[in-house]
This record gives sequence, structure tokens and C-alpha cells, in this order.
Amino acid sequence: MSIKETGVSYYGLSYVEHARRDFQEMVDHNCTAVLLALSEFDIDFWWPNIKEIVQAGKEAGLTVYLDTWGIGKWFGGEPPSLFLTNNPGNRQVSALTGEALPAVCFNSRAFREYFFDICQRLAREVDADGFFWDEPHYALPKSYASITGSAGDDWSCRCPYCRRMFEERYGYEMPRQLTMEVKRFRQDRALDILENASRRIKAIRPDSKIICCVHATLGTYYVTENRGYDDWDKVAASDACDVFSTTILSYQLPRSFFRSITERTVEIARRHSVGSQRWIMGYYQEPENLDEIKDIVQLYAELGVESLFAWTYRGGHGTALAAPRALELWNMIGNAYARALI
Ligand SMILES: [Zn+2]
Repeated sequence: MSIKETGVSYYGLSYVEHARRDFQEMVDHNCTAVLLALSEFDIDFWWPNIKEIVQAGKEAGLTVYLDTWGIGKWFGGEPPSLFLTNNPGNRQVSALTGEALPAVCFNSRAFREYFFDICQRLAREVDADGFFWDEPHYALPKSYASITGSAGDDWSCRCPYCRRMFEERYGYEMPRQLTMEVKRFRQDRALDILENASRRIKAIRPDSKIICCVHATLGTYYVTENRGYDDWDKVAASDACDVFSTTILSYQLPRSFFRSITERTVEIARRHSVGSQRWIMGYYQEPENLDEIKDIVQLYAELGVESLFAWTYRGGHGTALAAPRALELWNMIGNAYARALI
């Protein structure tokens, strides 16, 4: 057994005294860590209480990470983006139709300044243990991309910033086709902002642990979704990654897929001497037999995963994305964690 950390995500940050009770419930469910999902609205509006809530988490004995949840709709997550609301420009642009998409272009100067400012403010004023880069990705036409591949032909971003930068680098206009050069350019730009942010955070808080969590996709010779973070070696080798993490998998996928994704995650992490983390789906869906959660956790432990997290607290109880038996699922995750930590 090698699991060193068991955690859960937590959102709806508001009152410290409520969070304190919830943190105790997490400890009672054998969690050693919590991931605070911070939306742009939380950061803007609940700022004083975020600092207090982090403190309360640490007092409960939890390791506390900050998740830049859904920021700019560049990171994964449901919350809306204040930046998108307040900035009609600076959006990613479809390569084929030229339409602006509901996601920021993270290569735009305006968004980079905004994002770096958030990271530096959090690093300076909030006494957390680390940051979590939550499923960063280029916008994709969702209907064309699936967890098993089959990405469509369209891609982003071909906005004026990206076109200008591409032309400066290669000396010709950015193609509308996803050529080798375009793929490399997209990957390099996608990592650049995370590396830059990570360095800024460490300049303020050197011990901050940066977890980079990418989509758990096939990424094989035949199938890649071209989200910009598909080259796992490149991600794990970057300055934006102290812990290499891959996201949740649908319980409808075969268990062999759970195994291969986890084997690849651990292998990549070891190759680059960084930590490894896997996620469990603890909302929306559940296996028919909840006991299977224990088997999956056991599998991850046997394969050498160091950190294990579930999304989310109480199985998403009370949200549109609650698991059918949310509270039972949450209890089962707690039981599975107890065994994994032995
Ligand atoms: Zn762009």
C-alpha cells in the first residue's frame, strides 16, 4: 500500500463556522486533505473568509490545496467566469468558423495579468499548502470530443493574439488546419502560463506544492483530444508540476481502462520524479454496487498512487450533479479511504 494522502474537494465556501463542521466530517471520513474549489466569484466576494476557512482546515488537521476552479472556463468546472462577463474580448476563437467561444484565450495579455494577480494574491495572503491546476484545456466543441476520443476537426485558439504569436515564431500565417507546428505551438503556450504562474507562486511561497491535473484520456498514437495538455511527459517535466494528476473516470468505462490510466499516471510521475495523484468520481455517477469503490481504491493503491482524491464532498448532495445515492457514496469513499491508509 502506498497511499499517503486521501482528499476530497469542497465548494460553496462561505462561513467559517460551517466549514469547520464540514472539515470535521471529512476527517471522520478518513480524509487527510481538502481541495478548496475557488470560483472567480468566491475569490472576488468571499476573500476575507477564504483566508479564515483555510486556517480552519489546517486546524482540523487537513492539508489544504487551492483549486482555481473554472477560472476563465480554461480550467474545468461549472462556475461562471467573472472575467468573461467583464471582458467581451480576449476570447478563444474557433479555427474553422472564426466565432468567439465562451472561454478566455489564456494567451491574451489581459487574462494573463488577471490570472497571475489571483495566484500571487492567494500565495501572499492565504496560508495554504499548495495549488491545483484543474483540468486546464483549450475550448473544444464538446459534442465532438468524448472521453474515449473521436475529437472533431475544429479547434481553438486562432484569435488575433495567438495568430500573431504563431507568425512571430514560424514566419507564416497560422494555418486553419491542426498541423504539427500548430499542435506544438498550442502545447507550448498552454504550459507557458502555468509555468509562469507556478514560478510566481514559488517566489512568494517556496514550499507551495503544485498539482497539475490533466484529463484522463487515451492520448495514444491514434487518438488524442488535443486539449493542449495531451503530452503527459511534457506536463510532468514542466515547472508547473510537483504532482502529476489525472482526472476522474466514468464508472461506465471498463475497469481495464482504470488500470491503464493509473499505470500510465504513476509511470509518468516516477519518470519525472514528481508525485502521483488519481481521482475518484464521487458525484453524478456511482457504480451499481457501491462496494466497487473499495476495489478501485485498492487497485490504485496497488499500482503505486501516492495521493488519492474524490470529487466531491458528500457525493455532491443537494446539487444538480449529485450521485443518485450521494450520502451512501460519500460513506463508502470514507470506508475505502480507511483501508487505503492502513
Ligand atoms: Zn488565442
